[in-house]
Amino acid sequence: MTDRVTIFDTTLRDGEQSPGCSMDVPEKLRMARKLTELGVDILEAGFPIASEGDFEAVDAISREFPEARVAGLARCCALDVERALKALEHAAKPRVHTFIATSDIHLKYKLKKSRQQALEEAVAAVELARKHVDDVEFSAEDGARTEPEYLEEISKAVVAAGASTVNIPDTVGYSIPSEFGVLIGRIARALGESAVVSVHCHDDLGLAVANSIAAVQAGARQVECTINGIGERAGNCSLEEVVMILKTRADIFPYYTGIRTEHLFSASELLSSLITFGPQPNKAIVGANAFAHEAGIHQDGYLKEKSTYEIIDPRSVGVPEGRLVLGKHSGRHALSQRARDLGFELTKEEVEDLYHRFCAVADHRKKGLMDREIAQLIRAGMRVREEAAD
Ligand code: MN
Repeated sequence: MTDRVTIFDTTLRDGEQSPGCSMDVPEKLRMARKLTELGVDILEAGFPIASEGDFEAVDAISREFPEARVAGLARCCALDVERALKALEHAAKPRVHTFIATSDIHLKYKLKKSRQQALEEAVAAVELARKHVDDVEFSAEDGARTEPEYLEEISKAVVAAGASTVNIPDTVGYSIPSEFGVLIGRIARALGESAVVSVHCHDDLGLAVANSIAAVQAGARQVECTINGIGERAGNCSLEEVVMILKTRADIFPYYTGIRTEHLFSASELLSSLITFGPQPNKAIVGANAFAHEAGIHQDGYLKEKSTYEIIDPRSVGVPEGRLVLGKHSGRHALSQRARDLGFELTKEEVEDLYHRFCAVADHRKKGLMDREIAQLIRAGMRVREEAAD
């Protein structure tokens, strides 16, 4: 049996609210278009009460993409929920996403509210939203650090009030996969078929993706994530990673998503062009080096049979082809292959000569050599041999 996992994209909300990631309304619209092409199930377009820009973005995306399920964020109070409803007025498939913190740390120091008060406000907000829309998601902020029994109690209460999705965020990126899996399993069992359990993980300990996968294995059927993993502090769960884990390891995961993976790379590229930074080169799936093979033994194996060192076909995520970077760890085999790709058929002696020229340069380089430079080395060798023959 395979289960559909819903992909809730928050690139335009959690992602956008982090440093260096601001987008204006036209930029959010461009990104939203790409996200709908990519096939995300829910587009969280902003936090309408937070700013005029957020309100406009939710409103504009609702009008422009009638086929998309658009979410607007709201704290659990009437003012926020009404603002979100207003911004979603023109959405064909609106979702109100309302949240309140539930951990004792947040209740005591931030909200100065009791557990009972938070529960009552959560129920009231869900009921208010449900008077206007069918689709209401409730988030228990700092859920991973919330006392499990209370988390279960508030989850059941909001579902009884009409929420159809209960999101358990690891707001501060504190949990680890085995622990988070146990918590999500408990909530999923408590809610049964009455609601979808969702997760929203942050990457403060580098575990956002691992925690999200553990949660899916424990019963979560919605993952909140962002392109390139952008988001508050160390970021959110990376959409491309979680989707490709489920796809690549379909042998052990009986789950699937609606993501058209061949758009992953272009979605990442578009986002990088709209904000102030791109993914680090060694970022999984979309980093510049994600499909680059440099070490000689690796290149040799890869050229004989790609599956020796490549678990994902780069074309399946929209990267044109595996990029072979030639650097100081590259061997003769990769070098002669690259020469052939560049149009040079070299003899064994010529490859040997090229290899020595190549090593003399590559040894001092951190970045490896470009095709153009390799062609120059080949031509230099040819000139020397011509002169010697004259
Ligand atoms: Mn967040």
